[in-house]
Amino acid sequence: MASNWRSVRTAVHDEGVRALVLGLALAQTACAGPNLWTDGTSVSVASSNRGRIRSPARLPLRGPGFRVPPRWKERGFQFGTDEIVGAVARAAGRVHASDRRATLGVADFSRNRGGSSKWHNSHHSGRDVDLLFYTADAKGKPLAPPDHDMMTFDDEGVPYVGKRDKTGYADPIWADRRFDVRRNWELLEALLGDPAIRLQWVFISNGLRAKLLAWARRKQRPRWAVEYAETILRQPADSLPHDNHFHIRVYCTRADRFHGCLDRGAVWQHEKKAFKYGGPEHYDPVTWRRRLGSEPSPWRL
Ligand SMILES: [Zn+2]
Repeated sequence: MASNWRSVRTAVHDEGVRALVLGLALAQTACAGPNLWTDGTSVSVASSNRGRIRSPARLPLRGPGFRVPPRWKERGFQFGTDEIVGAVARAAGRVHASDRRATLGVADFSRNRGGSSKWHNSHHSGRDVDLLFYTADAKGKPLAPPDHDMMTFDDEGVPYVGKRDKTGYADPIWADRRFDVRRNWELLEALLGDPAIRLQWVFISNGLRAKLLAWARRKQRPRWAVEYAETILRQPADSLPHDNHFHIRVYCTRADRFHGCLDRGAVWQHEKKAFKYGGPEHYDPVTWRRRLGSEPSPWRL
């Protein structure tokens, strides 16, 4: 009897120890960092050049108005925050809605879980994405994105084989392509107006930047969009000129900042109040879902 009792107690004790050990083990295996308990949505951790992502969203390889061409599909860098992945898909969908032939070529977001890679200095934390430029033929008809090439464009929007493209292009119609100013602007305007994200940078060469802004002014696109674009469209001083793709970076959402997301570099005037005081919540999921559901496409206003 006594020995039975002791063995029961030992068993109970063992259970307790096991639970404690398991608990400690779980605590150890979880990555160190603030606020690990979240609702399971994505979290961009630390900075775009020294960070990672938790629970990233994955862009499908194709969807309405976009596809991931084979070269980038092979790399598998389709992972980003819920906000940026959703915004890119929505923006491509809007451009597509105004012209069914327009398809965005999506290159790299981040790799699964983020972190460094041999292809990118940034793209660590799920808040960067490279997008191919929309191209059209000489008559303005949108062309499908190339499978393997990021074509270099001169300041007039005409492609050429640049220094980086030593072996030329695999795309048989590359010489017929032109930078599609209209579709590229439409994409930007959709991203600028997406309530789930705030763009920090859109890297692009000075020549193509000038073309986009001139087109938007001529077509009397909304002033806020033109001014916002003027601020964030930049040819980077310290890296490639970005005359062959858009590189887009978004700020941390406020919720991700709380979980350790770090912005670096410029905080633009229109964002300062939100940074300083908390400001109005730009990222409120209820509001933006409601807006996305009911907002008519800006191209039809
Ligand atoms: Zn990039």
